[in-house]
Amino acid sequence: MPATFRSLSELLERIEATKKRLEIVDSTANYLKTLDALEIESAVNMMVGRAFPKYSQRTLDVSWQTLIRTLEDTYELDWDLFRQAMARTGDVGSAVKSVLEGCRAKKQTQLTMNPLTITEVQRSFDAIAKAQGAGSRTRKERQLTALLSQATPIEAKYLTKILTGEMRTGLHEGLMEQAVARAFNVPLQKVQHASMVLGDIGEVAATLKMQGAEGLDKAGFSVFRPVKLMLAQTAQSVNEALSEHGGETAFEYKYDGARVQIHKQNNQVRVFSRRLSDVTQSLPEVVAAIKSNVKAGEAILEGEVIALDSAGFPIAFQHLMRRFKRVRELGNMTQKIPLTMVLFDILYLNGESLISKPYIERRSILAQTVGNIPLTKQAILNQPEQAYTFLEEALAAGHEGLMAKKLDSPYTPGRRGKRWLKIKPILEPLDLVITAAEYGYGRRKGWLSDYYLAARDPASGEFLVVGKTFRGLTDAEIIDLTGRLKESAVSQEGHKVTVIPKIVVEVAYNEIQQSPKYKSHMALRFARITRIRDDKTPQEADTISHVREIFERQFRSKGKYNTN
Ligand code: AMP
Repeated sequence: MPATFRSLSELLERIEATKKRLEIVDSTANYLKTLDALEIESAVNMMVGRAFPKYSQRTLDVSWQTLIRTLEDTYELDWDLFRQAMARTGDVGSAVKSVLEGCRAKKQTQLTMNPLTITEVQRSFDAIAKAQGAGSRTRKERQLTALLSQATPIEAKYLTKILTGEMRTGLHEGLMEQAVARAFNVPLQKVQHASMVLGDIGEVAATLKMQGAEGLDKAGFSVFRPVKLMLAQTAQSVNEALSEHGGETAFEYKYDGARVQIHKQNNQVRVFSRRLSDVTQSLPEVVAAIKSNVKAGEAILEGEVIALDSAGFPIAFQHLMRRFKRVRELGNMTQKIPLTMVLFDILYLNGESLISKPYIERRSILAQTVGNIPLTKQAILNQPEQAYTFLEEALAAGHEGLMAKKLDSPYTPGRRGKRWLKIKPILEPLDLVITAAEYGYGRRKGWLSDYYLAARDPASGEFLVVGKTFRGLTDAEIIDLTGRLKESAVSQEGHKVTVIPKIVVEVAYNEIQQSPKYKSHMALRFARITRIRDDKTPQEADTISHVREIFERQFRSKGKYNTN
């Protein structure tokens, strides 16, 4: 007997009601035992709220509006009741169920038809995802109507939860791993490892069902299927990182960019983002660099893509993200925001997984594999003073801080642990007002590109300068600002133009120092503009007392960012 979607929905209903972890694992394991090889992968994914395997690039792309219209088309829905149910339950799926229980289906065929099976639901999901391009909304709606018209209220609840990505029953992926281990009587660690390598717990369950535990032993990476990323924890100082890693560690510059995982097989290259979506088309430079530098037939590499301004400083992350979104009209974006890539890891090479090898060995394999593509700047150190100097260098070059990587550590996909530590001495950003600007040199000649940043003093109404920066903006933004600042110029002295305080910018920095340079007696260190806040007036900028508060807070957490 094929497993019904109703049985799955009823199980989820019980899970939602108990919240007891042991009970959840037990009942899920028992249920998994009843499924066959074809059903189990779908069921596992559906139960954790996904329509497709985690590594899959397929998405349902059903908007809330489309779902509402379909529900309307299928049932005689009373929208007031729906709104009340939404307010009461705070959950779309539960609201759908509660309203459907009280209303008549216009097109419902459930009474005369066989119950929906898990396989049929999966087939509908496949068809919905497949509907793309012109007319896709109508086709998606048609598929959805067909699916929902067969669903009972409880089934509609869980379909809605999957369609909207809001499962929230308490059965998260970690518990599902436990349930799979219990159902097939294999050690949890083995299941976790396979889930990490295969990138999907549903596939692990299917492999166990079809091939048993030996099947898992054979599971390995495959090129073009993204691997979950290893993540870092935070360390408060270079000292903490050193002691956490046993006195010696590999420090690397921490670049403020976007992480990429690059898969290569012969002449084919695909690039995945931090969220494992395929961004190959947005990043032609990355593809070209890999093709011309990596000679290996197969490789999975990781690195950071960064954007640099004309002076070679990194520009704000938001500009870089624009590149990721531009898939179609890339146009001259490649010239406007040229990208640089630095690599820091290698997970797989020519059929061999490298993730169990120590960091230090992977790094050396990486260096031998990637030709002229630069690696992250790295120093293996055991002295706090040297580490602190390295951190200062990274910050002075406009980067975010340092990463510390334990020398003997394996690559652990999907895990956030202490083997990678990030040291990122950034304090909360400030909204400051530009009160003056200086003309730049070289490429920036003729542009007001170095900005005086001031905080508001509500008592006197004055704006007090707390820093100066030429970092963070794109050329286009600098040109635009130059025009706007000139319009509000009140005087000029040499290169320096004083302006009416009008423009608010968001500023990141690494420290606030005492300084005789400005009347405020404070100066931001390594300041950079992260955003122009045209939505804010100077009266909404941060006050000088707020800046002083942060300045003083640094001392309360004395030693946080230095070697003590
Ligand atoms: P966070 O996003 O703050 O958790 O910091 C981790 C992120 O820093 C990674 O996901 C990478 O995108 C980025 N990163 C920058 N430089 C490095 C590096 N040298 N090694 C690893 N990750 C880096």
